Amino acid sequence: MQQDLDGKVVIITGASSGIGAESARQLARHGCRLTLAARQTDKLEALAAELGSDVLTVRTDVTRRDEVVAMVETTIERFGRVDVMFANAGIYIPGQAIEGDPDSWSNLMKVNIDGVMYCAHAVLEQMKAQGSGDILVSSSISGFVDIEWEPIYSASKHAVTGLVHTLRRQVAPLGLRVGLIAPGATATELWDKTDPDEIAQLTDVEHGFIRAEDVARAVVFMLSQPPHVTIRDLVILPQNQDI
Ligand code: NDP
Repeated sequence: MQQDLDGKVVIITGASSGIGAESARQLARHGCRLTLAARQTDKLEALAAELGSDVLTVRTDVTRRDEVVAMVETTIERFGRVDVMFANAGIYIPGQAIEGDPDSWSNLMKVNIDGVMYCAHAVLEQMKAQGSGDILVSSSISGFVDIEWEPIYSASKHAVTGLVHTLRRQVAPLGLRVGLIAPGATATELWDKTDPDEIAQLTDVEHGFIRAEDVARAVVFMLSQPPHVTIRDLVILPQNQDI
């Protein structure tokens, strides 16, 4: 039997586009109360207007721990609890290391690793007091397989995979669940595209990407499991991705 998500309070980071925005749409349809967090407030507000009431938008840079803590506090003031932290914000840098910019790598680590750690830590006391809560992290297939064309990104996603696997065991006795979603190639702005038509073209047969809504459906599936079930890792790939 699935868990009813109606009324659950869900924080989504990286909610201004892609997987985060689609997850917000699907979770809103299930009756969730949402905090949408990202830096681009115009996009957050447009999404909130689309979704209707019970949606809070909070400008948050996940590399700033003070902003993450304040965003969680604002959520608790508004909704009284936090049932789900979906630590989803992330950036991507592919390419040959010899041609890369180590400063941009440090920034990627701050977003993809520090941001996830800050988000997880910021909800632990509240969830402990509640005796329940889900921390869901966007890792990647690159956090399971060493992908040679994206070594820095792959390293960051391996780190969050390790964090999920260890934190899960620490907080399971408190009634909390920690899991990750690990998509393969998903058609979003992550691939350095902003034109919706160009993003949609990625899903054609030749390019073979999955869609943000495919990943969002998997997010809903994970969160809908009854309390005695944890999906630790959910890997979701384009059917023909040779990886
Ligand atoms: P998008 O580029 O569409 O979305 C990324 C989101 O992260 C945006 O909402 C962006 O918001 C937010 N973000 C980036 N930097 C920060 C920051 N410093 N603080 C707060 N928010 C930030 O990409 P996806 O939806 O594809 O990516 C979502 C997650 O899924 C990422 O963790 C990514 O690594 C992972 N993933 C994606 C795959 C893909 O193929 N697309 C495959 C596997 C995993 P804003 O700019 O407004 O701050």
